[in-house]
Amino acid sequence: MTGPEQAAAGGAKPARVIEIAGLNKWFGDFHALKDIDLTVRKGERIVICGPSGSGKSTLIRCVNHLERHEEGDIIVNGVTLRGDKGSVNAVRGEVGMVFQQFNLFPHLTVLENCALAPMFARKMPRREAEALAMTRLERVRIPEQARKYPLQLSGGQQQRVAIARALCLRPSIMLFDEPTSALDPEMIKEVLDVMVELAEEGMTMLCVTHEMGFARQVADRVVFMDQGEIVEQAAPEIFFSNPRYDRTRAFLSQIL
Ligand code: ADP
Ligand code: MG
Repeated sequence: MTGPEQAAAGGAKPARVIEIAGLNKWFGDFHALKDIDLTVRKGERIVICGPSGSGKSTLIRCVNHLERHEEGDIIVNGVTLRGDKGSVNAVRGEVGMVFQQFNLFPHLTVLENCALAPMFARKMPRREAEALAMTRLERVRIPEQARKYPLQLSGGQQQRVAIARALCLRPSIMLFDEPTSALDPEMIKEVLDVMVELAEEGMTMLCVTHEMGFARQVADRVVFMDQGEIVEQAAPEIFFSNPRYDRTRAFLSQIL
């Protein structure tokens, strides 16, 4: 049983792995995140959606401190992010991230791209890191691409490499920021399939995506943001069929 199923079955609720309370962030005078509260429990799959510029990327980037927040608390696996090296490194060790642009090093092979993180972040010897990287490339079903360079791969394959690379640090939480938005339509499914598998294995996931089929299939909760606020959050069956607010309805009518 995954965390949420266990909770539904009446067991103790899974641990809170991300706790965001009273989060506010500004870019200069611009108030980018407004009083965000969000709790994610172990094994939960959260989909975040909302119009462009609503603060989705900023929110998930705050979770691994790619963005600094000015106000409020972000606690990841019990570690409070304070901006000091200790807490930032502790949190980044738990949190893998996949971006819209794959951010692979073009001059390194697929295998080297993946092995780099455990070699540098974990001081793992190269052979061990490469063996680990191969297991992760197998998991995203492209081990045969290991010796190629990123630009020799399709966009979908490159994004799967980026997922494998993130998994090489054995994260307990994965953040996805529009991982399929830069892909040609025929490549979206191969990336979503890998994400669905991760979800089925019980990975805690925070996914910014407008792939509403994915949201319906795997999300425990859909969070809708607009203008720096969480407007509403609900289970997908409720979110899609019975959104509470006009802003949500207006958004859904544009993307569905
Ligand atoms: P989304 O991911 O929902 O499209 P973002 O989180 O990227 O939205 O951005 C939210 C708002 O914050 C936007 O208005 C954007 O222009 C602004 N913003 C994001 N990053 C920066 C930055 N580094 N400096 C100034 N403004 C930014
Ligand atoms: Mg964004």
